[in-house]
Amino acid sequence: MTAYDLVVIGGGITGAGIARDAALRGMKVGLFEKSDFASGTSSKSSKLIHGGLRYLEHGEIRLVFESVSERSVQMRVAPHLVRPLPFLIPIYKGVRPGFEIMNVGLWIYDSLALFRVPRVHKAFRGTAAALALEPQLRPAGLRGAFEYYDCATDDARLVLENALDAIALGAECHTYTEVVRFERNADRRITGVAVRDRLTGKEWSVQARAVILAAGAWTDEMIQRFELPITRPLLRRTKGVHIVLPRERLPLARAITLISPLDGRVMFALPWRERSVLGTTDTDYDGTADGVAADADDVKYLCESGNGYFPGANLSSSDVIATWAGLRPLIAPPPKTEEGVDESAVSREHEVFTRNDGLVIIAGGKLTTYRRMAREAVGKTLDLLRDLGDEPVNHKETTKHRPLPGAVGLDSANLEGVAEIGRRLMAEYKLDVDTATHLCGVYGARAPELGAAIANDRALGHRLDPELPYVWAEIEFAARRDLARTVEDVLARRVPLLLVSRDQGLGVCDQVAAMLARLHGWDDATIAQQLAEYRAEVALSRRWRQ
Ligand SMILES: Cc1cc2nc3c(=O)[nH]c(=O)nc-3n(C[C@H](O)[C@H](O)[C@H](O)COP(=O)(O)OP(=O)(O)OC[C@H]3O[C@@H](n4cnc5c(N)ncnc54)[C@H](O)[C@@H]3O)c2cc1C
Repeated sequence: MTAYDLVVIGGGITGAGIARDAALRGMKVGLFEKSDFASGTSSKSSKLIHGGLRYLEHGEIRLVFESVSERSVQMRVAPHLVRPLPFLIPIYKGVRPGFEIMNVGLWIYDSLALFRVPRVHKAFRGTAAALALEPQLRPAGLRGAFEYYDCATDDARLVLENALDAIALGAECHTYTEVVRFERNADRRITGVAVRDRLTGKEWSVQARAVILAAGAWTDEMIQRFELPITRPLLRRTKGVHIVLPRERLPLARAITLISPLDGRVMFALPWRERSVLGTTDTDYDGTADGVAADADDVKYLCESGNGYFPGANLSSSDVIATWAGLRPLIAPPPKTEEGVDESAVSREHEVFTRNDGLVIIAGGKLTTYRRMAREAVGKTLDLLRDLGDEPVNHKETTKHRPLPGAVGLDSANLEGVAEIGRRLMAEYKLDVDTATHLCGVYGARAPELGAAIANDRALGHRLDPELPYVWAEIEFAARRDLARTVEDVLARRVPLLLVSRDQGLGVCDQVAAMLARLHGWDDATIAQQLAEYRAEVALSRRWRQ
């Protein structure tokens, strides 16, 4: 039976980050994810690595400082995945905070990043100055705008590259493998887990000195299912929906921070890949975390909120290309004392609970701070093992300076290093500028491998969709190098036509399945099942239309 130092349950950003951190410190790690890497919330975010400007309003200086510090680390260790994105905050008459307070807030925001930002924020006073930047904005009442910087990321790929690096460091990461049971000894100490491969049905057990539950929005479901003696829910989950729009319907040069005129919530309009995105909603969610989808009210809310800022666009549900919906794993409010709210409870974005049976639970968190969370969770697990008399390895290695796979060997740890790869793709492999720009932007230092494949077989350089620079070589790469096991893995997360293409990939999914069948050795029944599952995923994302 395989024996691990650490079993990680969940292959979202939290679990993948933990597996990487623990493997780097010398632990023998097994990660089990019941679907694909990032198939949970970690591919459904707003795809921002940000400090959370709005936390400043509540005086949460420490949280903002941690996040903007992490933003700097991520820009250095993954410049192809975490890139500066200019944001505009339009200021309207009568809407708080006003111009002067926002200016002070942004000075604090820039200073917390120790001014390590692509550009410090800038004020644009007057309607004309703001409209010159974003002409789509509603002119009535517009007093000006601020431009500041945060970062955009590819959330699913950030998870994948963490998993790839964990594997390179010796971790064993299994997708479509569900943890179905904890194994315990006579003292109730956890000794391992039983798992089931959901594609083959095979079940087996592995040993573990410790287990970290990093199941995001599934955490409380897991606690109930495995009858852990924890009586209160650890999470309060809320659903967040984004809608994808054709760029020409909402042309954006930069991200825009909006305050919904419907309920005063902060939202974003984002340029994302070849499209524009509006998000997000925030509604309490009860029920299983599987199969979360947008509904008609979500789409209506987002279109109407967008129209409050971009009246000329006159957005409606017929403009929507695709939607995605995820559950925020927010820490549940602390139990109330007899007098009311427990005043001593500090607002936290994540918590790590250690139990003396060898289980560690990590709840909450954000993409932005995943690396710090992973370090904390692994550190506490090592402390727990030591307390239990199970002396583990304890190297002090840190991921702080370790590049993710797509950043290894880049000449400079910034966008210039990525651009250099793009120039190489054009010169060495004769790729056109669109394909080269796309490939270096997504794969970074790994892109030349795709360039070489295309140079070897020009058909692999053909586009999957005439409107998008995504090419067939990426499908092969997804299966061979990027751990994709299903059609959905490829079209939802590796090459996300599900979210970007106007037909959501339905036009090419047969050919994609045929290519994957050759690479994975699928028979006809498997191909049919794979296609049915992909079409069901598309239908789920369109369910709101009913
Ligand atoms: C709408 C929205 C927008 C957001 N925007 C941002 C943002 O812009 N920036 C930011 O920093 N953060 C953002 N967040 C927060 C961030 O996305 C999440 O905190 C983060 O992705 C959670 O990651 P996770 O790994 O904890 O959970 P998940 O990604 O959900 O991973 C948990 C995994 O556990 C697996 N699992 C469950 N049960 C089992 C089992 N029995 N066996 C094996 N595996 C199992 C699931 O399949 C799942 O893949 C956003 C969240 C939402 C919902």
